[in-house]
Amino acid sequence: MKYDLVVIGGGPAGLAAAHAAWEDGCKSICILERDKELGGILNQCIHNGFGLHFFKEELTGPEYAGRFIEMLRSTGVEVKTDAMVLDVTHDKQVHVVSAASGYEVLDAQSVVLAMGCRERTRGAIAIPGTRPAGVFTAGAAQRYLNIEGYMVGKRVVILGSGDIGLIMARRMTLEGAKVLACVELMPYSGGLTRNIVQCLNDFDIPLYLSHTITDIQGRDRVERVTVSQIDNKRQPIPGTEMVFDCDTVLLSVGLIPENELSRATGLEMDARTNGPVVYENMETSIPGVFACGNVVHVHDLVDFVTAESQRAGHAAAAYCAGQVAASTVIKPISAGNGVGYTVPQHIRMDAVTDAVSLFFRVRAVYRDAKIVITDETGAQIAAFAREHLAPGEMESIKLPRVLLDKVQGALTVSIEEGK
Ligand SMILES: Cc1cc2nc3c(=O)[nH]c(=O)nc-3n(C[C@H](O)[C@H](O)[C@H](O)COP(=O)(O)OP(=O)(O)OC[C@H]3O[C@@H](n4cnc5c(N)ncnc54)[C@H](O)[C@@H]3O)c2cc1C
Repeated sequence: MKYDLVVIGGGPAGLAAAHAAWEDGCKSICILERDKELGGILNQCIHNGFGLHFFKEELTGPEYAGRFIEMLRSTGVEVKTDAMVLDVTHDKQVHVVSAASGYEVLDAQSVVLAMGCRERTRGAIAIPGTRPAGVFTAGAAQRYLNIEGYMVGKRVVILGSGDIGLIMARRMTLEGAKVLACVELMPYSGGLTRNIVQCLNDFDIPLYLSHTITDIQGRDRVERVTVSQIDNKRQPIPGTEMVFDCDTVLLSVGLIPENELSRATGLEMDARTNGPVVYENMETSIPGVFACGNVVHVHDLVDFVTAESQRAGHAAAAYCAGQVAASTVIKPISAGNGVGYTVPQHIRMDAVTDAVSLFFRVRAVYRDAKIVITDETGAQIAAFAREHLAPGEMESIKLPRVLLDKVQGALTVSIEEGK
């Protein structure tokens, strides 16, 4: 089978990219989704808080996904669910296996990678103790509870204060569990402030910052955990131990882009995001292969995923129409003081008409700080004041073409403290 565009992943990123490409005249599009339904991670996020930026109203995750699924119904975009992509070759052949069609190889003129991300597990952070049942990643517990209908435990300790952990603290409480504590290694929360307030404070769930779980005990099922305060070298401080009798530990200790296909395809990868390196229009290092959403970098709000993925979809349609972005002047972007990464990592000046949106995360919490853009000569190109910056909240700035024209060589994004 031949397609103009094959989209891998039917979450919000894949749906928005496919829709944008269709609107731009790309008429032979196929979305491949390994799950039984479209919607991605949104299907298990039954809480509200989605869509405030994009739809200007508060929706639940399934409602947000439903809007895009509905929009796609009026198009000719083909959808294959229960279809797992195993490989994407350099020349854009997509190898997929599905119950309906068996093993197939699809020829694509362009490909959008939108495979989302996965959670870090207990193995990734090596918590000491025994290996009883009752230790779940927060997202897996969310799926059990909200989709499969299983209550995963009654007395819960949550390790990590990322958004999924915070949301699950509230969800488990509403379902009748007792959430004893949320324990965070860093001196600040990894989640959005609104989730700290609405999911912990409103339910009197204590948040222990600069603490970690130092022991999990239990024979068949978790029976208790030990939580200790840590010093500035992240070592447990003796004498600070607290023991919680609990049957469940939920881990919310980070997300990693689902990057096996990206790596196997031979895309240039960014060690900081764990996703592919992309240009201003979300094109990767292989021409005609685009990437968007959590497979590129982990987003906090789905609205940003949608905007980024629409850009990828428009660019894929332009590629199919023969409008290949010229790359005579490329400006690399690097992460300076206080900045963890930037997306995109490169800007092709010939492709910039109006402005480029730059996304990044900071490494620490800042109050009254400045985001500063400098070039290779050290000249300051722009500065943006921010009252509050935190690692849990993705930042974005818009760089107009007129400013980019002043840049000599590479750009650096840094944080300066003070107004
Ligand atoms: C628990 C949780 C709570 C959240 N809460 C909020 C919130 O309150 N508000 C908000 O705005 N945002 C929230 N978000 C963020 C938002 O939901 C995500 O940023 C968004 O869903 C990411 O979209 P995506 O399409 O990149 O990834 P996903 O939604 O993960 O979709 C990726 C899709 O790709 C498929 N896939 C992967 N590999 C393959 C393969 N090899 N072959 C075929 N298909 C494949 C997967 O099955 C999946 O359906 C939350 C996220 C999580 C995890």
